[in-house]
Amino acid sequence: MAILKLVKYGEESLRQKSKEISKISKKIKTLAEDMIDTMYKNNGVGLAAPQVGENIRMFVIDVSEPKEPYNPIVFINPKIIKKEGATHEKEGCLSFPNAFVDVRRYSYVKVKAVNLSGKPFIMEAKDGSLLARAIQHENDHLDGILFIDHSRNVFEAIKALEENNLPPIQKEKMIDEPELEEIISKAEENE
Ligand code: ZN
Repeated sequence: MAILKLVKYGEESLRQKSKEISKISKKIKTLAEDMIDTMYKNNGVGLAAPQVGENIRMFVIDVSEPKEPYNPIVFINPKIIKKEGATHEKEGCLSFPNAFVDVRRYSYVKVKAVNLSGKPFIMEAKDGSLLARAIQHENDHLDGILFIDHSRNVFEAIKALEENNLPPIQKEKMIDEPELEEIISKAEENE
């Protein structure tokens, strides 16, 4: 077991596109175990390989409740094959200590990936679930996309980064998501 050093926002590797994993070697297995330990140690619900300095397509998630048994899931070479609905919620990231920002997400996703034994699996994350958000958040890391890029309010994001002594927002990286925003604002009107 090893606790790995986290890559913080501002380091270039967080913005790089990660490579597919071609063989699940001993090294990959150890890395996955260390990533799980590192995620628990930092009270995270997910961690992607680029966050520990490895630009390869793997992430780990555990969305179990504190009273439930541990349930870590390893995703290798994941692909989101279906996404529906829209939601928004404050999110954080282990690479952005103490910064929380309201971001847009699909409310439901279906993902295809390979586990540590090399076995393919498909997982559906229920509409509006933490798992659905975590999968999108971690999967984005593999493409160099960060949660702040999905921010609904750029001023809130700027403030959250500033208050936590993090580098400024990269406005050119922000993603315009009119299809998600439309659903979210309609739901807000009806509240
Ligand atoms: Zn993250």
